[in-house]
Amino acid sequence: MDCERDMSPTFRFAPSPNGELHLGHAVSALTGFEMAQAAGGRFLVRIEDIDAARARDSYTAQILDDLAWLGLTWETPVMHQSQRFDVYTAAAEDLQDRGLLYPCWATRTEIADAAARADCGTDPDGAPLYPGLHKHLSDTERAARGATGEPFALRLDMERAMEAASEVLRGAPLTFTELDEHGRPQTIAAEPARWGDAVIVRKEVPASYNLAVVIDDADQRVTHVTRGRDLYEATALQRLLQVLLGLPEPVYHHHRLILDTDGRKLSKSAGDTSLRHLRERGTTPQDIRLLAGF
Ligand code: GLU
Repeated sequence: MDCERDMSPTFRFAPSPNGELHLGHAVSALTGFEMAQAAGGRFLVRIEDIDAARARDSYTAQILDDLAWLGLTWETPVMHQSQRFDVYTAAAEDLQDRGLLYPCWATRTEIADAAARADCGTDPDGAPLYPGLHKHLSDTERAARGATGEPFALRLDMERAMEAASEVLRGAPLTFTELDEHGRPQTIAAEPARWGDAVIVRKEVPASYNLAVVIDDADQRVTHVTRGRDLYEATALQRLLQVLLGLPEPVYHHHRLILDTDGRKLSKSAGDTSLRHLRERGTTPQDIRLLAGF
């Protein structure tokens, strides 16, 4: 029985409770839910609240209330990332013990200044690539920096990580499977090096979005990751981490985004498209489904 359950197609919606859900989130949640229904699979909700400075319990409560109002049901208990820092720390230690992570004490300003001087280019999100500031510190320099007690991030040594992944894959290319809008699987070449030496453990949080998400998708036996196109590029980095940590590979579907009238992605502060605002104005769940394109 357990075995059957473990093998069922499993989908999830993983909101960050940093603001109210808007129509874009409704598309994500409904996409995962409808695909799970169609596949006779499981649907989970995961609260991605590692960012203590921005996450609020009141948003979590509102999110779950909005999802129930939309007519969605999900398995309980709901996973909260803020309760899983020990799991993320253990995985980061594993990567660090293998020489794949290194500490970086540099501030945002120092990194931005050095990146501008070195003209290193930008990552897929448009942020400057890490210019290697603290990559080549000697052991003595690292020990001296460490002794100051200043907070540091842990960054992925991308060259070493790619080498380690290539060993695991025995030279086969790193890819992921993307279901297109018709549900047809496409094999996509993953190019995580475009992210440079990405932050895997943040200074202020003992995890990062990319680390937490791959560990949780594996621990929750998620087989289908459905989310917006804005996270398409992150998939390459997540695939690399999955290979390095020996985690299973889910199938991906990145759905279209709802854009605001200026053609930008809706943000958490997109007041008049927030589900709460629409509910207060008398919009029905059926109206939301139509507005979200279902
Ligand atoms: N927590 C992320 C967000 O709200 C989504 C993560 C994911 O679906 O992989 O944007």
